Amino acid sequence: MTYRPVHLLHPKKILQKSNRYPRRSLGQNFLVNKGILEKIADAVSENQSSTVFEVGPGLGHLTVLLCELYHNVVAIEKDDLLAKDLQERLKEYDNLTVISQDGINISIEDLIHKFTPDYDVVGNLPFYCATEILFNFLETEPSAQKIIFMFQREVAARLVAKAGTKEYGALTIACDAIADVKPLFKIKAGSFYPKPEVDAEVLCFKPKSEKDRVTPKNRVLLRKILRAAFSARRKTLKNALKNSGIWDDLTNDRCECFSELEKIRPDAIKPSDYFMMAEVLAGKQQGP
Ligand code: SAM
Repeated sequence: MTYRPVHLLHPKKILQKSNRYPRRSLGQNFLVNKGILEKIADAVSENQSSTVFEVGPGLGHLTVLLCELYHNVVAIEKDDLLAKDLQERLKEYDNLTVISQDGINISIEDLIHKFTPDYDVVGNLPFYCATEILFNFLETEPSAQKIIFMFQREVAARLVAKAGTKEYGALTIACDAIADVKPLFKIKAGSFYPKPEVDAEVLCFKPKSEKDRVTPKNRVLLRKILRAAFSARRKTLKNALKNSGIWDDLTNDRCECFSELEKIRPDAIKPSDYFMMAEVLAGKQQGP
C-alpha cells in the first residue's frame, strides 16, 4: 500500500511543545519507525471492515495511516491530554472520532451499537492491560473481523506457544478457545521512543466462528481447570486437579478418555483436551 505522505513530528518534539514527557505509568513508548507503522496499518486493513477501533493511539502516528485507509476510525485513549491533543492535531480527518476513556472499562457493545458491527481492532498497548483488553474484544459478540495487537515478546510467545514448550500455558489455551492466532512480525526495542527494555511482536487474532469456539459457559469452567492445572504444571494432570476436586468431578463415572491423560503433565496436554474437560464438567453440572 502506498500512503499519502503525512508529516507527523517525532514524539519527543510533539510532547516538548506542551512541556510534557512520556508517562511510564501508561506505558507510553511511541512507535517511531515509519516502515513498521505502515506494516501494522497494512496488516489490519487487509480485507478491511468499514471501521477500525484503535486502542491507545498515543500521538497518532498509526492513527493518521488508518484515517487514510478506513471509512471510520475510532481511537480510544486513556490519557485525557493526549486524547484532546490528538483530536486537535488530526482535525482535518472528519472520519476520526477520539474517545477519551480507559480501554479496559469501555463498553464494546456500546461502541458496536454506536458505530458498526463490521469492525477491525488494532492496538499497541502496555503489558499491564493488553491481554485484558484483547480478551474483552475476543469475548464480545458480534466479534471483530480481526484484531492486530502488539505485545512484548515474552507475552507474544505465550499466546502462540505449542503444547510441551515452557511458554505454553493457561493464556495460550484460553486464547485458543476463542481465536486463531498468527504471529506477524517482530519489532526491535529501538523502534520506539523512549526505548523500552524489551522487544515486541505483532500478532493477528481471528475470532473463531460460533460453532468452533468454546461456549461462554464452558469458558468459565475451562478457566477453573486451567487455574488448577497450571498452578502445579510439574505434577501429573491427575495430581494437579485432585486438590480442587476437579479430578473427581471429571472421572467419577469413569470416563475412559481420562485414563490416557491422567499421567501426563498439564503443559503437555493439547488445548482440545482441555476443551473436552470443560465440556465434561458442563455436562455433569446439567445432571443426567
Ligand atoms: N499507538 C501509539 C504508538 O504506537 O506510537 C502509542 C503506543 S503507547 C505503547 C500506548 C498508548 O496506550 C499510550 O498512548 C497510552 O496512553 C495508551 N494507554 C495506556 N493504557 C491505556 C488504556 N487502559 N486504555 C486506552 N489507552 C491506554
